[in-house]
Amino acid sequence: MTNAAEPELRAVLVAGSINTDLVARVAKAPEAGETVTGSTFAIFGGGKGANQAIATSRSGAPTAMLGALGNDDFGRARRADLEADGIDTRSVARSQTAASGVALIVVEETSGQNRIAYVPGATWTISPEQAREALARVDPAVILMTLEPPFDVLETLLEVSAATGAATVLNASPEAVGARQFLDRIDVLVVNETEAEDLLGSTVTTTNSAEAALALAALGPRTAVITLGAAGAVVAAGGQTRTLPAPEVRVVDTTAAGDSFSGAFAADLARGADPFTAARSGVIAGSLATTIPGAYPSIPFRTAVEGLLNSP
Ligand code: ADP
Repeated sequence: MTNAAEPELRAVLVAGSINTDLVARVAKAPEAGETVTGSTFAIFGGGKGANQAIATSRSGAPTAMLGALGNDDFGRARRADLEADGIDTRSVARSQTAASGVALIVVEETSGQNRIAYVPGATWTISPEQAREALARVDPAVILMTLEPPFDVLETLLEVSAATGAATVLNASPEAVGARQFLDRIDVLVVNETEAEDLLGSTVTTTNSAEAALALAALGPRTAVITLGAAGAVVAAGGQTRTLPAPEVRVVDTTAAGDSFSGAFAADLARGADPFTAARSGVIAGSLATTIPGAYPSIPFRTAVEGLLNSP
């Protein structure tokens, strides 16, 4: 039975990277020309776009992904991961020329330091035509994008959304300064403290974060959100600011915390929530993600977020 009071669930289209992380643990990282024998090796699904699509879907919004994979085993595995989470992958292209995005990660056990070689591969082959097709097919209420796809793809998403009225959310990551050219055309900017600093050219702390969010909103977006790690997030919209504190949790691994925030936030917007309400869900989702190791396994479901939303 459908509940008449339940708002219509419209889709979120997530544009970004889908990656495979190959992680080798070694006592000491190799120098140039050196070979070292490692202790363990593991393969994990990742990529900010994929993480955010999984977060959106687990937050209860119909979710489609705009991305690209290679015609290889990693590509098939990541597509299966997304589909297992109920994500529409029809707009995830299968490149015949580029390999699936991969990060080669060497973790040095003595220092805990990482050395990462990241190859975006197929992610850089996403095309504006593919974006147009995805928008026409999915007709999303919300478009959630990172700065990982080629910028002409982001241009197309913003151009078409201006005509269709879809809300646009830009998570200005991994290199925030790339967002400058889009700021006057997006509805929502989501950044962490470092990214906020890169865009503003000044220090951002929990203490001055509300002013910083207003300053980011003054650069163009209707709404600016800064996530503040353990301090939660601050939202500036319509000249108002609100700080949403994070619940106290036992932090195990912060991987995908920011992506869980963005996905839960976008899903709430698709349900018709205002940005302050959506950011509250985002903060709880982000915090829950820190309590479980890894990326995909740590991304919380809506029921878990609701459990904390409804607790006093
Ligand atoms: P990113 O992972 O992109 O750097 P943040 O560190 O700001 O982003 O984390 C995103 C969200 O995850 C925060 O808004 C918060 O809700 C949650 N979070 C991150 N670190 C913690 C923490 N130590 N304790 C509780 N929640 C956290």
